[in-house]
Amino acid sequence: MTARIIDGKAFAAGLRERVAKVAAEFEEKAGRKAGLAVVLVGEDPASQVYVRSKGKATIAAGMESFEHRMPESTSQELLLAKVDELNADPSVDGILVQLPLPKHLDEQAVVDRISPAKDVDGLTPVSTGQLALGQAGLVPCTPLGSLMLLKDQLGDLSGMDAVVIGRSILVGKPMAQLLLDANATVTIAHSRTKNLPEVVGRADIVVAAVGRAEMVKADWLKEGATVIDVGINRLSPEPGAEKGRLVGDVDFAGASQKAGAITPVPGGVGPMTIAVLLRNTVVAAHRREGMEVLGGL
Ligand code: NDP
Repeated sequence: MTARIIDGKAFAAGLRERVAKVAAEFEEKAGRKAGLAVVLVGEDPASQVYVRSKGKATIAAGMESFEHRMPESTSQELLLAKVDELNADPSVDGILVQLPLPKHLDEQAVVDRISPAKDVDGLTPVSTGQLALGQAGLVPCTPLGSLMLLKDQLGDLSGMDAVVIGRSILVGKPMAQLLLDANATVTIAHSRTKNLPEVVGRADIVVAAVGRAEMVKADWLKEGATVIDVGINRLSPEPGAEKGRLVGDVDFAGASQKAGAITPVPGGVGPMTIAVLLRNTVVAAHRREGMEVLGGL
């Protein structure tokens, strides 16, 4: 069997278009643009790239982008004061503090300070609680984007066996919760799981969010399973090459001969993350203004 390749890039482009339409309608009704504030502390090169592309995508979707760059030496107190300022700013609908923060800062305390109404990353205790309770809150972008791809491929997920590998607050746990809400039967596997290949072999849906290059092998998979590969890992460079290849947590070459459908890396889940961030921002803007969100978001 040769798997269908799930084109996350194309799906994300469609989602960004829908977001842009809804953002334009929001601007007309509210008399202002929806706004996303991104806070970057320090000089981490990967974070700088992410923040730049988030800013560009926000503007392309017709929303306001506010970038706040703070030096590496920023104190906890100053960073919390910045979050307070953004919480109080009426033109800001979403706040994202780019992680990881420099070591001397307490990440969870900073995230906890973000107003839940503006928590477009879905990481505050209130957002996490709302997801557990099945209440309408803001859901972490990568798992929500992964769920969108799954529903687009499979339609109704009721009764399907899903295995999520990874239990982080950012990906694994919210992913499992979303699949449960979609009526899948969910197993969460992690580093202490016994006989992982056998656990994965029962699944109609496999979501790999581990951070270990090509760990999930083709012979672990049930024939025809749908595979969402969240992992982003850079291999060591081949001789003569400057940079190593990017690969996921799944052995793509092998798995694409056994799975029914699979996301590639890059071009699968990755592009969904920013598209869902824009979606969350425009949704937060509507809720803050007491407006109903339309447009199938
Ligand atoms: P974390 O490191 O926070 O979590 C990794 C999880 O994998 C942990 O729960 C860990 O288990 C589990 N794990 C580690 N080793 C094994 C193993 N041998 N067998 C089974 N489970 C194992 O990572 P994140 O959740 O933040 O990210 C996961 C991956 O997704 C990374 O590659 C990251 O780069 C990528 N990512 C991609 C995004 C995108 O936009 N596409 C966005 C966010 C992340 P335990 O809890 O027991 O330690």
